[in-house]
Amino acid sequence: MDNLLISFEKKARRFKRPTSFLVVDDEQRARESLVKLLKRQWSDITEAEDGEEAISLIQQRQFNLVILDLNMPKKSGDQVLAFIRDKKINTTVIVLSGETSINKVTEAVRLGAYDIFKKPYSFDELEHSIRNALDKLHVEDEKAQIQNRLAHSERLHRYMVDNSPDLIYILNLAGEFSFVNDSVTKLLGYDKADMIGKHYSEFIADEDRLKAEYLFNERRRASRSNRTIELGLKCNTKDPTKPFDVTTCPIELNSMGIYAVDSKDPKKLSTYQGTYGVARDISSRKKAEKLITFQAYHDLLTKLPNRAMLHDRLDLAIRQAERSGETLIIMFLDLDRFKLINDSFGHVVGDQLLVEVAERLKAEIRTGDTLARLGGDEFMLLLPQPTSREQAEKVAQKLIASLQQPFYLKGKEVYINISIGISVFPVDSSDINTLIKNADMAMYDVKATGKNGYTFYDSKIEHAAAEKISIESGLRNALKNDELEIFYQPQIDVETRKIVGVEALLRWNHPQLGLRRPSYFMEQAEESRIIEQLSDWVLHRVASDLFGSQEFVNSQIRVSINLSATDIKQKDFPENLVSFTDVYGIEPGRLEIEITENMFMGDIQASTHKLQVLANKGISIAIDDFGTGYSSLNYLRELPVHTVKIDYSFISEIEHSKKGAALVAAIIGMAQGLGIQTIAEGVENTQQSDYLEGLGCHLMQGYLFGEPVKIGHFLESVTAQNSNVSSLSNA
Ligand code: C2E
Ligand code: MG
Ligand code: MG
Repeated sequence: MDNLLISFEKKARRFKRPTSFLVVDDEQRARESLVKLLKRQWSDITEAEDGEEAISLIQQRQFNLVILDLNMPKKSGDQVLAFIRDKKINTTVIVLSGETSINKVTEAVRLGAYDIFKKPYSFDELEHSIRNALDKLHVEDEKAQIQNRLAHSERLHRYMVDNSPDLIYILNLAGEFSFVNDSVTKLLGYDKADMIGKHYSEFIADEDRLKAEYLFNERRRASRSNRTIELGLKCNTKDPTKPFDVTTCPIELNSMGIYAVDSKDPKKLSTYQGTYGVARDISSRKKAEKLITFQAYHDLLTKLPNRAMLHDRLDLAIRQAERSGETLIIMFLDLDRFKLINDSFGHVVGDQLLVEVAERLKAEIRTGDTLARLGGDEFMLLLPQPTSREQAEKVAQKLIASLQQPFYLKGKEVYINISIGISVFPVDSSDINTLIKNADMAMYDVKATGKNGYTFYDSKIEHAAAEKISIESGLRNALKNDELEIFYQPQIDVETRKIVGVEALLRWNHPQLGLRRPSYFMEQAEESRIIEQLSDWVLHRVASDLFGSQEFVNSQIRVSINLSATDIKQKDFPENLVSFTDVYGIEPGRLEIEITENMFMGDIQASTHKLQVLANKGISIAIDDFGTGYSSLNYLRELPVHTVKIDYSFISEIEHSKKGAALVAAIIGMAQGLGIQTIAEGVENTQQSDYLEGLGCHLMQGYLFGEPVKIGHFLESVTAQNSNVSSLSNA
């Protein structure tokens, strides 16, 4: 831009030219006296004594004024005039001539002479004519300057227009482009020539045609104020259309300055001539807006609609269903044991699982249905089209089946189930929040009664859900109010008929409901993390109950304590347990911890390390409920497992199914092969105990040998056993 201004300044200076004369006359005296007179006022005066010399000088330099004699040797004045005219030399010629013939004079004028004086002439008159000629020259100079300035200004504006980041255009009366700036190529990918003469509508995105028509037509009638509207313009690039803010203002005569102002009728100026406008590319703004809207209505992890969008859709669906009298189905979906996966594999893998679960669920639903993620492992499905209960059941079954195949996370096979609660509009409620709450409650009922299934809401469920909520606060009070108790169940070696171990089982003396077993409160305890305090309480109570008794200390009975996933996830878990045995003076060999397979899922290395610390100290590790978890058998090789507890569900099958019996045999055989001890849990009859004994599993626990009992009762058995042993040894 600076360069442009400098070049303009230079050009402007060139026009302030000094006056230069060429005096041509073969009569020396006449020439000299004229030069003398001229020199009084002007300094730049050159002389020539004939036409030939004059032509040669004119070729060499520029003269503003040539004062020319006609009759001269070599080349005449006419010839000089003809030369000047033919060569289009920019100079003014005043002729001085002795000739009087009209022909000569006419010829000189025809050849371009500015004025003619007949010799002898009055110098005053000549001077007057010279001044007129110079004035004329001056006016021409100024005109040239103005034109130059205009040209420069035009270049400047063109530069600004063409280098504008916006598309600048002019439409003629017919709505065709009569001008577009250079930016059009960069913005839309067209050549200017592609657009000139074409109607604007060819370049407007189809869906915005009406809007554009309104904009451009309205401009013709309405006021002159600018107006901005968003339009999509068709592109000749990889994006089919781009959003633009299109501003238009009608062009009127005065703004263009095409016609002179009509002073009598100034209204004439407002005749519509076309439209001038600017279109600004707002793609990035639109993209940002889109992202913000997306974020406001979607879950960023799974890209599913979020709670806000679900509420919108649900609200709409309810209003439609109210009008049409149709039913509406809402499903609350929650993954089973997701927390365990998150804790075991870490949040990154947990997130990946959620994304894959969302994809599988989405594949099962129809286009009009809304599957939303409410947060964590909670999803919600809205079926807005009329759906019967039977159809809803089919959808729920399909969703459950879709998660049946394993997921592969960090190269490991992971299984996850889902529990679904269903509520129906308007049967269960006609209020959004109540419908969601009811579906949620139904889902909790599924979880409480075994997980991986679906159920419809009914009022009984509400009662159960309320109970769950009260469990959490009840548990906190239970700790404070000393409502907890441990029951002890003996583990027998059937070969010696002696108690070799005892399992500590937690009970809650509920103030209203009486004695409650862990199945009543354990899930709430884990979810609310009250379990950490419970485990701590159990350890200390067991230590004082058993190791406070000399009878027990004297026996060789080992005590088994159940721990939860939360316990072993704690960083200092092994160190704390070891220091616990130190504080109570418990011989580590008398302590066994029971953990389930699911607890070290995904995090086998960390678990191995922790359990190894305990094993090194002499504390035994038992796998509880063996065979019911998800983990691969690999861990049996890696972990320092001492005991496998065959789950009650397998034992109860022994006398009912061949397969069940075979499975028990297989577990025992495998454990024996690995040098791991087995205990059968839940042995209730001799058929079972005989079968187990036959397979070489002689450690058993179950009602057949003794139900879980209070400490006093248990210690009586210990005393009895001790005295039997001592009486035997005395004998
Ligand atoms: P578990 O460790 O597998 O305990 C064995 C369960 O089987 C006990 O249930 C016991 O009462 C029951 N049982 C024993 N013999 C028989 C039998 O012959 N037939 C039948 N049908 N059942 C029998 P309980 O006491 O209700 O405990 C349930 C589960 O709660 C336990 O399963 C254990 O995983 C957990 N649990 C118990 N106490 C604690 C504790 O202090 N901390 C933790 N984290 N979990 C505990
Ligand atoms: Mg146990
Ligand atoms: Mg068990």
